[in-house]
Amino acid sequence: MKNTFFLLFYFFSLCAYSQLDKKVLIIGIDGCRPDALNIASTPSIDLLIGNGVFSSDALNDDITISGPGWSAIICGVWSDKHLVTNNNFDGNNYEEYPSIFQYIESFNSDLNTASICHWAPINDYIVDDTADFTLNVSNDSAVSSEAIDYITENDVDVLFLHFDDVDYAGHAYGFSPEVDEYIDAIEGVDLLIGPIMTSIENRPNYDNEDWLIIVSTDHGGKNISHGGSSLEEENVFFIASGNSVETEVIEKEIIIVAPPFNCLAENLELQFDGDNDYVSIEQNPLFDFGENRDFTIHLIKNKLINLIFVHIFVQNYLL
Ligand SMILES: [Zn+2]
Repeated sequence: MKNTFFLLFYFFSLCAYSQLDKKVLIIGIDGCRPDALNIASTPSIDLLIGNGVFSSDALNDDITISGPGWSAIICGVWSDKHLVTNNNFDGNNYEEYPSIFQYIESFNSDLNTASICHWAPINDYIVDDTADFTLNVSNDSAVSSEAIDYITENDVDVLFLHFDDVDYAGHAYGFSPEVDEYIDAIEGVDLLIGPIMTSIENRPNYDNEDWLIIVSTDHGGKNISHGGSSLEEENVFFIASGNSVETEVIEKEIIIVAPPFNCLAENLELQFDGDNDYVSIEQNPLFDFGENRDFTIHLIKNKLINLIFVHIFVQNYLL
């Protein structure tokens, strides 16, 4: 596990939101480099960034391949635990480290959980039968339209979506902010996210709901591939957006020194400097992790104690 540390990052509801019905949408954009996201025209994603926590300095310092990457995001552990090291899922350890959906369903099987994916192995292997509803579709546009249908017709509590066109464009034309086709693909996904947000706002009970929207990616890329340990492949972005989420941009302010290990309280690199670049938790000092810690995401939705409660580790360490 190198010299890395998990740090739990909890989103707590503010009082005003504590009585609302907690809902979670997780949007995965495969193979999306943060530097390309930053220059692409993405009004829908920008709205999410403006209403939550954002970092383009997050890091997947495990295996930068989709099988292990999405396993880490959905199961909350690295490849040394989920045991997926490539896109062949043989020998996985999902029994011991199951998906987020399994945790949610065992907490309360009445919660409505769903996963709609363009890259089928996510549902076929990682989610499997742990969510109430899984659907594989053959293009990103169908991810969006099926998501809108599901949000409109069901009282969904936790929804995972996977978009794959950006990764396709990277493999076909290059993973780079300088490749027009790659930027176009990111802008295309943004166009598909907008209507999903509208469908959420159009829900009849929306005024009584508090949505947490998480957006991230499994890896970046270099030239026309990924899988290595370059910063271009490991650097990922992270967004956690919602009306009860503190608004903050988290930036690494120290020059990157390769290799980019996350070293908590070490002097190698990749630390916060403590100047407005940490996450604090409203009304709960127990979970105020301070100013110089790397962290990953572990959200727990628990209606009993009024926490937002998706339960997920995202592999994203902050640089
Ligand atoms: Zn790929």
